[in-house]
Amino acid sequence: MEEWDVIVIGAGIAGLSAAQMLGRARRRTLVVDAGSPRNRFAAHMHGVLGHDGIPPAELLDRGRAELEAYGVEIVAASVDAVEESDASVTVRMTDGRTETARALIIATGITDELPAIPGLAEGWGSTVLHCPYCHGWEVRDRRLGVLLLSPLQLHQAQLVRQWSDDVVVFTAAAGELAPDVLRAFRARGIGVETHPVVAFADGTVHLAGGRRVPVDAIFTAGAPRPHDAFVAGLGLARTDAGLLEVDALGRTSSARIWAAGNVVTPYANVPVSMGAGSMAGAGANAALVEEDVARAIAEPERYWNDRYADRMWSGNPNATLVDVVGGFVPTRSLDLGCGEGADVVWLARRGWDATGIDLSAAAIARAQAAAEEAGVSARFIAGDLDDTDPLGAAGIDGSFGLVTASFLHSRVALDRARALRRAAGLVARGGHLLVVSHAAPPPWARPEHVAHHVFLSPEQELASLDLPATEWETLIVDVRSRAAVGPDGAPATLGDSVVLLRRV
Ligand SMILES: Cc1cc2nc3c(=O)[nH]c(=O)nc-3n(C[C@H](O)[C@H](O)[C@H](O)COP(=O)(O)OP(=O)(O)OC[C@H]3O[C@@H](n4cnc5c(N)ncnc54)[C@H](O)[C@@H]3O)c2cc1C
Repeated sequence: MEEWDVIVIGAGIAGLSAAQMLGRARRRTLVVDAGSPRNRFAAHMHGVLGHDGIPPAELLDRGRAELEAYGVEIVAASVDAVEESDASVTVRMTDGRTETARALIIATGITDELPAIPGLAEGWGSTVLHCPYCHGWEVRDRRLGVLLLSPLQLHQAQLVRQWSDDVVVFTAAAGELAPDVLRAFRARGIGVETHPVVAFADGTVHLAGGRRVPVDAIFTAGAPRPHDAFVAGLGLARTDAGLLEVDALGRTSSARIWAAGNVVTPYANVPVSMGAGSMAGAGANAALVEEDVARAIAEPERYWNDRYADRMWSGNPNATLVDVVGGFVPTRSLDLGCGEGADVVWLARRGWDATGIDLSAAAIARAQAAAEEAGVSARFIAGDLDDTDPLGAAGIDGSFGLVTASFLHSRVALDRARALRRAAGLVARGGHLLVVSHAAPPPWARPEHVAHHVFLSPEQELASLDLPATEWETLIVDVRSRAAVGPDGAPATLGDSVVLLRRV
């Protein structure tokens, strides 16, 4: 049994946003975080509406505090493996702990891998910058450098020019530039340095050959390395760029795994990562809601199969059935909630073309065995009376001379009155509907075992059937006493509500 609804790996802005949606959606959520958000190198954060200029860690701290109110748990740990099964995802941490959840959100960000040029890593986030939208305003009108690492980065030079007219671009790592690119640089007054950069220190770019170029800040783009090695074994679909492939809600090719933020969108800034995390949180919750619905629909069947794991009944037909139906001329019969089939086998023995239906496949298997053992031919269907046409689904049509429901009580979802009314519609003209149910709890029943149960008087049963008096003749509306023996061996008398109707 899984412990968490969702595990989020990563407590950066994407992971915390996902967790906020999940916590507010009352999902049991665990966040596992290694504590190294990508923007930890920067003293201030910009371009984040309402939070402009605050330290990046402050936003995350506020987020963590908000999550606490929704019961989200956050642990400091690093995940190094994820395993997936049909029903859950298990996360293993480097300290040996494991946690299991119904869904997983990967929000682990990236590492910006910088070229091995001395001074770049040291200045990362202060004088070595990656994004003019995040830092351009702060260095506007200053001497700015742009270190190109590949031709894909050419646009960055023109972009940075928007913030200053004193821009020099270092092009050696991008190879020889096309004439139209150089022309565009010239047109915008961007200087070009073709010698390789060998170091950046104290506001100076050192070039091979010894030349030095002073700049106040240098823009470059590290190669993004996504933190997703821990799902390498799952075979999730990836983009051409090698990133995890996700849909609009962040779902990966696994039905239980989402990914959001820089780990799948390296260019995303804080607001975009926040939105993606929020979307993934909502997406994971929506999928769990869907699964909860499917589980709830399957629950009655699971419940009854569990109940019928061992033989439940005596194998004798119900006394009221024997008493009431004994004199009827056999035609076609249908027993609703036939359980282990004792009533159906008894009817078949007496010459009825007998069918029984029950939700539990385990009970039906036992009923079939009972018919075989008795040497009678009877039809048993594992079907749900809450379905619109469970008999039709099993290829059975036509009407019945007798429809019976003996103790058709369920403590799990069943619209009993609707099922009985629908079954009444299957009774042929001149045929009978017999409904027998508990009129009162047995003397040995503990209150907690019968609290869920509605004990109908025969009059209430008749009223709940709500059948037109013009079509139905009421033959019996009665409480009948029956001798029984309690679990402690003491004799008792039980009352059964009996309703017998005849279709005219
Ligand atoms: C220097 C710098 C400055 C920036 N400034 C700005 C700015 O001013 N404005 C702006 O909008 N954007 C800015 N950004 C971009 C911003 O950093 C990202 O948009 C944002 O961090 C993406 O959030 P995320 O949640 O996807 O990833 P992250 O913030 O990187 O969070 C990922 C989290 O996952 C954790 N993690 C990783 N692997 C594991 C693992 N195996 N197990 C457990 N936990 C793990 C990490 O430790 C980290 O805490 C800046 C980026 C940089 C590099």
